Amino acid sequence: MTESMLTGTSSPAAGAGALLSLLRDGRARTRAELVELTGLARSTVSLRLDALLSRRWVVPADDVISSGGRPATAFAFNKSARIVLAADLGATHARLAVTDLAATMLAEQEVEMPIARGPEAVLTWLVDAFRELLTECDRRLADVCGVGVGLPGPVEHDTGKPVNPPIMPGWDGFPVPDWLSARLGVPVLVDNDVNMMALGEYWAGRSGAEHLIYVKIGTGIGCGIISGRSLHRGAQGAAGDIGHIRVPSSEENLVCRCGNVGCLEAVAGGAALAARLHAAGHETADSRDVVRLVRAGNTEAIQLVRQAGREVGVVLASIVNFFNPAVILIGGDLAGAGEHLLAGLREVIYSRSLPLATQHLSIRVSELGDRAGVVGAAVMMIEHMLSPEAVDQALSA
Ligand SMILES: [Zn+2]
Repeated sequence: MTESMLTGTSSPAAGAGALLSLLRDGRARTRAELVELTGLARSTVSLRLDALLSRRWVVPADDVISSGGRPATAFAFNKSARIVLAADLGATHARLAVTDLAATMLAEQEVEMPIARGPEAVLTWLVDAFRELLTECDRRLADVCGVGVGLPGPVEHDTGKPVNPPIMPGWDGFPVPDWLSARLGVPVLVDNDVNMMALGEYWAGRSGAEHLIYVKIGTGIGCGIISGRSLHRGAQGAAGDIGHIRVPSSEENLVCRCGNVGCLEAVAGGAALAARLHAAGHETADSRDVVRLVRAGNTEAIQLVRQAGREVGVVLASIVNFFNPAVILIGGDLAGAGEHLLAGLREVIYSRSLPLATQHLSIRVSELGDRAGVVGAAVMMIEHMLSPEAVDQALSA
């Protein structure tokens, strides 16, 4: 880090945010270590450290480091300074959480809550549910620094408004952040659920991949992209919508819910597989029913899921050549079919992608599972609140 990156002119504590970023890796450091790391004068480090200590963003650590001479106090990021509320609102289920500033769960809840009930009903319920969850972990609304929300449809990132969401009647253009912020009194950020899942997975394995693709295969199919450690949303927030890419398939005349034919989602999505098995006489209504059949060893379901893996693999093989991710994580309900799905995916990706792009490529099932979205929603808010610019601004206020 260079001196210019850490030097500000507007306030004596400007640059404190960058110092906090250094400490967010969880390691406690002494003044001398911070001076060495930043290359700043000891007096400058002290000034910034004092500003962070005054807001309790940083606290003296228990471990006192002795370097031969007199013992020196170490300072550490205080992940308990504030808390975050997070929600992953899916088509039929909602998962909520209260977390600390390291996205550690302090309380969580999963309930059935159809998004189709509309924004006023769902968000009124959400506000009450957040209050109950705070009571459960003995925290107050005054401790909350922000709220992160994931929604199951396209979201305009700058405004947090859903844009023509296909499965969310009444939500188009609804000002979700303003509505929630007016009732909870804190900043609210809203994004698409698959983006949140990608961010959650990236956070969970953050020592690893800087370039990561998270693919959600449920009723529909979509992907979230982490490029160079941050979320890639694209010009209009539509990046990663791979469900409507046309794929060559024996089922290529299938009409998709978007109106086109032969879309990946219409061929390999959970709803499509459930419908095909239903037509063959099985009791399958959705992706979870398909997974249940696979786990019961039904060969028809296993073959169908393996073929779906190949269809998704065709699209991902192109993405691997184009984007060169280090990791592809598979999530969503159909990921419950595990190796049967992955086998089809790997078969096509490794045979159709360039050897250099697949040399170290890891393709595996999501580590966080159903929690990926809610963790990502918390991380989105934490990264926003603790960005160096935001911390400097909070300290100068
Ligand atoms: Zn489509």
